[in-house]
Order: sequence, then C-alpha cells, then structure tokens
Amino acid sequence: MVGISRRQGCLIILGLIFLLVLSSSVVSTTAVVAGRNSNRAGNVSLADVPILNYHKIDTLHHSLSIPPQEFEEQIAYLSQNGFTTISPDQLMSYLNHSKALPEKPILITFDDGYLDNYTNAYPILKKYGFTATIFLVTNLVGHDERFMTWDQVREMQKAGFAFGSHTVSHAALTKISREQAMEELIDSRKEMEQQLGVKARYFAYPTGAYNLQVEEMVKQAGYKAAFTIRYGQAGTESDPYALERIPIFKGQQTFRSFFIRLNAAPLLERFGLIRN
Ligand SMILES: [Zn+2]
Repeated sequence: MVGISRRQGCLIILGLIFLLVLSSSVVSTTAVVAGRNSNRAGNVSLADVPILNYHKIDTLHHSLSIPPQEFEEQIAYLSQNGFTTISPDQLMSYLNHSKALPEKPILITFDDGYLDNYTNAYPILKKYGFTATIFLVTNLVGHDERFMTWDQVREMQKAGFAFGSHTVSHAALTKISREQAMEELIDSRKEMEQQLGVKARYFAYPTGAYNLQVEEMVKQAGYKAAFTIRYGQAGTESDPYALERIPIFKGQQTFRSFFIRLNAAPLLERFGLIRN
C-alpha cells in the first residue's frame, strides 16, 4: 500500500534527524518526556506503546509479505534494543488501570491468520523469546490451506500467543448491513471462544474500515478493544475501540522503513503531527 521512493526515503530520514535534534533540545530544556501523556485518572504519566502490524511473513512479491530473513532482522533489532513483547490484556490493564508494563513494551500483531505466521514467524519469535497477537478470520481457519488450522492456533496459544477476531469472512464492516456486521462480530467471537476456551476480547477491523457506528457495534458484541491500521502508538488518549498501530511493509529498504516507522511515531506524536 505505502511504498517510499529513494528520494522520499532520504527526505524522511533528514526530517527525522531534524526532529531528533529538535526533540533532544526540547527534552533538555523543558523536561518533556518522550511520547508521554497524562493519565485520565490522575497525574500518572504513561508512555505510549508501539503496536506493530504485520500480515504475511513469506517471500511473495507483495508489500504485505515480509521475507522471513527481513522479519528476523526486525525482531533481532527489537531484542537487541531491549523491547519486551506484551499481550493485549497487559496493554489494556496499563491503559485502563495504569498497571505497570516492562520497560520497553511492544505489542506485535498479525492480521488474517496466514499459515506462514505459524511456519515462518512463530519459530523466529520463539527464538527471541517473543510472543504476538494474531487476528483470525474464523471461516478461513482450517478451511483454506493458506491459513492456519485450529490445532496450530492452540499450539501457539499454549506458547503464550494471544488471538483476536478479524470477523468471520473478512468483511469490511462499514460496507455491510448492521445485522450482517453484528453477525460477523458475534459469530467469530463465539467460534473463537469455543475453539480456544478463553474469552475473545479483542478485534481488528478488516481492511482497517471503521466509523463511530461500527465501534459501537464492536463494543456491543462484547469486545474490550479494537485495533485499526491508523499510524501511531496506543496511549491513554487513544480511543480503545480505535487503537493506533504501526503497519510494517516490505519495500526496497524494508529495515530502514521499519526503523523509521517505529522510531518516528513518538516524535510525530510529540509534535502533534499524528493523532488529533
Ligand atoms: Zn485483514
């Protein structure tokens, strides 16, 4: 979806360096803390949390397919830089109740539930002691060879991975009737709960499409939070039914794009350039 040319890439890097220089002087003179917001409940200062969004980890020629080797490069970077993966439950306890998180928390998410999440991403994540959250299209699980089976899902669940709903059929909820949308939301939740034996509390919008009405339906269907593909980090000022993520794409320079997208988010937020 988003590709950056070499020229645009250079401009982004120059812009980032400029923001970095500017922000370090702001920090030193006014003691503003990076990417922090005041908690609704009081004076507790809570840092925003990056939520990465992947789809496929394979070698297809598609911007949503990250080759395993490049995925490992990104995961190794996170590991070497002290990041710890968290679950959506941990994220919500933190956002709603200020419950402490590890020092550099990150939530890694995958949409759609592709088989390569199990065959390619899972071994790499395990190698680095990381977990992730995968949003499943329940009609595709075990019914289409390009997607995972429930047994594979349960195996990852035992290893600490979390699962959320991405509807029954990957329908864009803004484009179908209210009745159909409620069915997509409720039936997928029930199927997941039956298959996995735990509450399905989290949802990711297929194609990223949502509006206030859809958010309300997600809430009514029994979910506690929902994830968008809007660029940004999740913080106490985020709408829990429209949580920002950092989509990761394959490009000419996949790692550079990953690095910029991850590290620019707190800076852009601080300068009010994203999330209004
Ligand atoms: Zn999707």
